[in-house]
Amino acid sequence: MPQPMLLCIAGLLGLAIGSFLNVVIHRVPEGLSLVKPGSHCPHCGHEIRNRHNVPVLGWVLLRGKCADCRAHISVRYPLVEAGTAALFVAVAARFGLSWELPAYLYLAAISIALAAIDLDKLRLPDAIVKPSYAVALALLLPAAALGHDWRAIVRGLIAAAAMWIFFEIVAFFGAMGGGDVKLAPLLGFYLGWLGWSAVAIGAFAAFVLGGLVGAGLMAARLAKRKTRIPFGPYMLAGAFLAVFAAAPIADWYLNLLSTPIA
Ligand SMILES: [Zn+2]
Repeated sequence: MPQPMLLCIAGLLGLAIGSFLNVVIHRVPEGLSLVKPGSHCPHCGHEIRNRHNVPVLGWVLLRGKCADCRAHISVRYPLVEAGTAALFVAVAARFGLSWELPAYLYLAAISIALAAIDLDKLRLPDAIVKPSYAVALALLLPAAALGHDWRAIVRGLIAAAAMWIFFEIVAFFGAMGGGDVKLAPLLGFYLGWLGWSAVAIGAFAAFVLGGLVGAGLMAARLAKRKTRIPFGPYMLAGAFLAVFAAAPIADWYLNLLSTPIA
């Protein structure tokens, strides 16, 4: 398949999945069904008409207001849809049409849902994280079998265990929530598949990003030392930084180490 066509399909798929993720973000933390009832306005309860349920465009057509009661509809709906589409295009460009592609598209989708839910509710629901261990394994096992690369799976499993132990230790010192500890092995598996430098960069970037934003919030007096800041979004952002840029970052760092000091 030509690259532009693959990216177009990934973008359209991302818009559709993003629309579904909006439902996941609102219903999973409440323990509600994902299929029933259909999309409705949370304010007046009227069902959303099909033509208004089109990703991004529906919100633009309605100018961010419910067609029935004119209640404000959060700009986060179209942002989640557009963000999912953008991430899907980037993942498709990174992996091409490969057996790994579905596995990393799945990671992209749950990452957007988990980041939004953690920002809202300060938790990473088990209902999303736990089944994802099995889904990730099921999607990457065929990639290993068909690519004859069993080392990648073994490395992923070792990295999952290492990340789990590491985050369990950080949590022991009180700096981490239980949801973060359960997310760590999943990200470890995905990054371990790519290589050890991806694991190191992903974990390190999570703490750098979380620390920078936390320090920024404290400096702006929006947070105090004791304010609980969700850590999931930084773990996920760090993981994707590693997915996209582990190789150039590792090269740059090794170059830095080997440059003689004049
Ligand atoms: Zn309404």
